[in-house]
Amino acid sequence: MAEIILKATNISKAFAGVQALKNVNLTIHKGEIHCLAGENGSGKSTLIKIISGVYEPDEGLIEIGGKVYSRLTPMEAIDRGIQIIYQDLSIFPNLTVAENIALNLELSGKRKLIDWKRVKQIAKEAIDKIGFKINLDEKVENLSVAEKQLIAISRALLNNAKIIIMDEPTTALTKKEVAALFNIIKNLQSQGISILFVSHKLDEVFEISEKITILRNGQNVISGEAANFDNDLFVYYMTGRKFKET
Ligand code: ADP
Ligand code: MG
Repeated sequence: MAEIILKATNISKAFAGVQALKNVNLTIHKGEIHCLAGENGSGKSTLIKIISGVYEPDEGLIEIGGKVYSRLTPMEAIDRGIQIIYQDLSIFPNLTVAENIALNLELSGKRKLIDWKRVKQIAKEAIDKIGFKINLDEKVENLSVAEKQLIAISRALLNNAKIIIMDEPTTALTKKEVAALFNIIKNLQSQGISILFVSHKLDEVFEISEKITILRNGQNVISGEAANFDNDLFVYYMTGRKFKET
């Protein structure tokens, strides 16, 4: 069994009157593709925001890289290798591909002047690493959602990601783009990176994941090997209903 790289224990979080999470546990091993599933409002986004230091939990601990935190700042999460690919993709539309990937890294250095050649070189290496071909000088506003996603992934790799969290990444993608994204996810996995793939789409979950954790009403329902699930079981865990109703 691969080493555990992230362990969230007994995480609870309430927002004014809403118990978004109650005693939730999540364990992620190195190089694992782990799906976090659950219906809308089940607490998936709240959990990943806690893991990445965006929200402070009311209760619970996050163990990562041998350290235990009761609260994690966003900078600590990044330092520990946690990277989120958001749906809005946090990208600067007027900058080029290369600038979007590598500029913040260059700016965080001590250099006074930006070394544009270096920005491009760094960006190229990051893109090559995921086997993606694109014009580095293209303005990001001209790209598709799928391409923007790949830029966000390249940037995550440059930030030494150990876990890449993707919150419902396939929502705006075509079938072909989903297939391409899944190839990249497998490529990341082969580099020892863990993926937390947030989704409620049954077919995708079964196609890509090795582990599945399901939340319902802010609580853990089950966590286990994907091979031990079938469609009916998955729907049952997600909804609590035995038969497919709508
Ligand atoms: P999911 O991502 O699974 O759809 P969320 O984590 O977004 O679920 O939401 C879980 C519950 O917490 C929902 O009832 C949602 O309305 C509530 N919630 C999430 N974020 C906030 C917030 N910032 N303020 C108030 N309620 C929130
Ligand atoms: Mg969500």
